[in-house]
Formats: sequence, structure tokens, C-alpha cells
Amino acid sequence: PSGVGKGTLIRLLRERHPGLGLSISATTRAPREGEHHAEHYYFLDPDEFDAKVAAGEFVEHAAYSGNQYGTLRSELSRHRESGGVVLEIELQGARQVRETMPEAHQIFIAPPSEEALRTRLIGRGTDSPESIERRLAVAREELAARNEFPDVVVNDDLDEAVARLDAIVSAHYQPL
Ligand code: 5GP
Repeated sequence: PSGVGKGTLIRLLRERHPGLGLSISATTRAPREGEHHAEHYYFLDPDEFDAKVAAGEFVEHAAYSGNQYGTLRSELSRHRESGGVVLEIELQGARQVRETMPEAHQIFIAPPSEEALRTRLIGRGTDSPESIERRLAVAREELAARNEFPDVVVNDDLDEAVARLDAIVSAHYQPL
């Protein structure tokens, strides 16, 4: 779910596995303060995004909380030499990847509680109150799907969560 701390966990994970690539997603969402094109996301307008969908350029894509998000095939080929690439995506996209790339290993990142998620989304200070409520409503549905995933990491204590993630990734990823 949004606000669960995926970005921080993935950053710390990649410090331990420097060869692990990170897929930069495309989105129609407006950049937040401090976010840059081609660094945090490829920020596209809805027409550009739709054209890429029509051209089959996405591995997966999903509408989330009023915006479009998707993983570009070119991001996976960009990391072909990396021996591994992380997709930081929400539930609908994860379900598509499960169908089209069964070799992908999927890890569900869960908050310790719904209340903790609300506190994090408010504390992050990047979303309007309406956006937070919308994200929490979606999060409830996402949390119900955790059993679809072979691994669940609860992001309560950050160090413990990174250690768990590291152990799972080490078991599935061989650096080149
Ligand atoms: P945010 O707007 O907070 O950056 O992202 C909203 C949600 O979309 C988060 O759960 C994030 O992980 C997810 N997301 C980001 N990129 C992608 C993507 O390429 N595909 C999908 N399906 N979800 C994404």
C-alpha cells in the first residue's frame, strides 16, 4: 500500500545489493516537491501515457487513486545486465506481473497497522487530506490481498524489515 515505506526499504536494500537495478515507473501524477523527471518517475501527460499503452510499451500498468502508473519494457531491458531489477508497484500491477512474468519474486510490504499507515501518510506531508483518505481506502483492499504473495514483510522496525527483505532477496538473486 501507498505510504508503507516501500521507497525507503528499497533504497536500503539496494545499498546492500548495489548490483540490483531499480525500475523507474511512468506516471500521470504531478511531481511532488523535490521529484524529478527520469529520476523518481517519468512524468507523462495522460495522452503520452495512453499512446505508450496502445503501443504495448508497458509490462504492466494500473490506475491508482486517480492517476496512471506503469512499468516500461525499456526499464527492464535497461537493467538486463544487472542480474536483478526491483519494481516498486501496487497490487493490480503486481497481479499482471504474476501472470506475464512468473519468474518474478513478489514481496508484499505491509504496515504494522492501518493506523500506522494513516500516521505515515499524514506525516509524509505530500498528499492532500482527500488523497490520503482515497489511498487509505485502496490500502484496505490491498491489505486483504497479502496472502497472494509468497513473502510478506511487515515494516514495523525498519532495521528488522530491511534484514528480512535482504534475506529474501539474497535467496532469490544472484549478482552477476
Ligand atoms: P505514489 O503516487 O505514492 O508515488 O504511488 C502510488 C502507488 O503507485 C504506490 O503504491 C506505488 O508503489 C505505485 N506505483 C508506482 N509505480 C508504479 C508502476 O509502475 N506500476 C504500478 N502498478 N504501480 C506503481
